[in-house]
Amino acid sequence: TKLWKYYPKRLVQTSAKKEDVGLLPTVHNFVGGKFVTSNGPIIHTVTNPATGETLQKVPGTTRQEVDQVMQIAQEAFGSWSTTPIGRRLNYIFQLREAEIDVRFQGIKKRSKDIAQVITRELGKTPADAQGDVARGLEIVEYSCGAAGKLEGMFQKNVATNVDMMQMREPLGVCLGVCPFNFPAMIPLWMLPMSTVVGNTIVLKPSELVPGAVELIAQVVDEAQFPPGVFNVVQGGKETVDCLLEHPGLKAVSFVGSTPVGRHIYRKASERGIRAQCNMGAKNHAVIMPDAAKDTALNALIGAAFGASGQRCMAISVGVFVGEAGNWISELVKRTQSLVLGTAEGSDLGPLVTEKAKQRVEKLIQSAESQGAKIEYRASVPSSKGNWVGPTIISQVKPHMDVYQQEIFGPVLSCIHVETLDDAIQLINNNPYGNGTSIFTQSGVVARMFQSNIQVGQIGINLPIPVPAPPFGFTGSKDSMWGDLPFYGSTGFEFYTRPKTVITRWDEKVQSAIHTSMPLHR
Ligand code: NAD
Repeated sequence: TKLWKYYPKRLVQTSAKKEDVGLLPTVHNFVGGKFVTSNGPIIHTVTNPATGETLQKVPGTTRQEVDQVMQIAQEAFGSWSTTPIGRRLNYIFQLREAEIDVRFQGIKKRSKDIAQVITRELGKTPADAQGDVARGLEIVEYSCGAAGKLEGMFQKNVATNVDMMQMREPLGVCLGVCPFNFPAMIPLWMLPMSTVVGNTIVLKPSELVPGAVELIAQVVDEAQFPPGVFNVVQGGKETVDCLLEHPGLKAVSFVGSTPVGRHIYRKASERGIRAQCNMGAKNHAVIMPDAAKDTALNALIGAAFGASGQRCMAISVGVFVGEAGNWISELVKRTQSLVLGTAEGSDLGPLVTEKAKQRVEKLIQSAESQGAKIEYRASVPSSKGNWVGPTIISQVKPHMDVYQQEIFGPVLSCIHVETLDDAIQLINNNPYGNGTSIFTQSGVVARMFQSNIQVGQIGINLPIPVPAPPFGFTGSKDSMWGDLPFYGSTGFEFYTRPKTVITRWDEKVQSAIHTSMPLHR
């Protein structure tokens, strides 16, 4: 029926009326190569954020079920980690392409289906949802080159007849905890990179948008990955805590908000397992008076309002230097052309939940009551769903709530400063360090900015500087905890551990006992 159109056909169990939440299908776990339903309590009902239509129920996987999946993933690690790299690579190729028979389609050919699920559950526009899948596919493709990234080191004769080698080995069972705002891209940062080097993984999608990972699991199933290599458990924080506490866990990759990322990093560190936590953001774009005006304003609008501001690299603060402060009215005029909707050709959709909408509206109101000026607030296309119109606020000051908090909505705060130094100081004082950008025609100014700014990813005359492989995602400060960024060569380092072997093959017998520190003789 229409309601289930975007879900894997064989997963749909019922023809429930959409009004009846009790009869809605339950999203599945994928454990040991099988789709199974958790016995845990229902923790969330997924709704279409554009219409309020209910879609499916999400259970919270229980501790007992977590123990089972961890055991299966640990068992699978044994043979997967010793499978030759060439064979592991074949599975990753299959994940991307149809290779088994004509009926099978990899993620690339299925990207439209996955994008439709994303639009339905998250409200991204079709083009943006397809971008979500495409950016994830880049990491699948990069992982196909893993063979060249895993070589070790060897040195002959580090001492007499002593040789030394260092190799990289997989860790064991890894955990991936995902946010709602990139339902395909972020799981695809984790799945191929962790498994291609020989780990097995348990992935926990966001309970708000579980559908895309369910489809990805279906592709994994059809690509005939060995059971237990890739597993999915549904749930929320209780399920994540059960996973983090499991003694078999060797590493955790987290993407989400800063408070949750800190919690996960601390829990992992206490146990001595590695964690990479990509977290929240407050990204500033500096507009210099010499900037190419059209480029700068259009880029600012796209980066502030695209995905309704629900991107960790969204620009949420425009810092206008000197006379560039006069461009706000022009910014408003251009923003008025944006089309709200989830159909082809629309520019931005709704927010993910009713709660998110209320939070963003409250922050907009707080800005006004704390002395800022609402320059523009677009009307919304429907009273149903979680719509918030693009909003531009000027005269924002750093102490205001709208500046202090990550908004994660279609709201651009504008701050006016006198000099480039003032702009740099403002940005450096902010606790987040995910991304920033500057618009200028001066190479000298751009170079000063990139040298002095304490932010991990910098765009010069472009607004959303998200690295593509072989580079990794290098947020900093409270936007990233952990030493090894996601994907790129550091991604391979994160998912492997170096091991050193030193050998002596000596013709002579060692006739004496040496108790002093061995030297390289
Ligand atoms: P969130 O922190 O609420 O949830 C992320 C994941 O953590 C979910 O799977 C959720 O179930 C789980 N979780 C929630 N509370 C938990 C707890 N107390 N203990 C253990 N697990 C818990 O984040 P979100 O709202 O889904 O995503 C939006 C946030 O993610 C924003 O802050 C955004 O900036 C950030 N984000 C960052 C990046 C990046 O690369 N820096 C990318 C995308 C999103």
